[in-house]
Amino acid sequence: MTTEPTPRVGVLALQGDFREHLTVLTSLGAETVPVRRASELDDIDGLVIPGGESSVMDKLSRMFDLDETLRRAIGSGLPVYGTCAGLIMLADRIVDGIPGQRSLGGLDVSVRRNAFGSQTESFETDVDVPVLDGPPVHAVFIRAPVVDEVGPAATAIGVLEDGRVVAVEQGPLMGTSFHPEVTDDLRFHARFLDKARARASR
Ligand code: GLN
Repeated sequence: MTTEPTPRVGVLALQGDFREHLTVLTSLGAETVPVRRASELDDIDGLVIPGGESSVMDKLSRMFDLDETLRRAIGSGLPVYGTCAGLIMLADRIVDGIPGQRSLGGLDVSVRRNAFGSQTESFETDVDVPVLDGPPVHAVFIRAPVVDEVGPAATAIGVLEDGRVVAVEQGPLMGTSFHPEVTDDLRFHARFLDKARARASR
């Protein structure tokens, strides 16, 4: 009998709701590491970039000299899952960023920050995600971005009824506008751990 490797996954812990992700990933059987410095990116099979405030996460990642190491890790094929601000960090192009705001990139998409307007602080709705087995995902959006444009390298995997794209995938990279870590639907995290497990058993 072969046993599946236990994936060792990091959660970027500079800012935002990283604790919720650590709890979810631990509950799914992963070994977890909060990542605040470049050396903590060694020996991980995957990384989650949490929700929070992308402009602050961008500034902190540069201040802590993490940004270039993160870009190299993404470029090397590390599985990375970004939720909300994390999706913005993974986008190749940001619309409505603050002046000078940069992303790490990786996903061939344009992501618009705070796309539902200041009147819509948060809302919940069901999103059909055909790549996940089972019913639609009950999704929680908090000052959420949307994917304005999906480039040829990326695939939209979750679309709202009005056609707006809120979940994307590109090989080992995945991003959602919403926050599965605050719900008990853990299918996105499970899908991310499948990618991390595949990386661990290389
Ligand atoms: N509006 C935030 C940003 O621009 C994202 C909000 C969130 O992560 N819940 O980064």
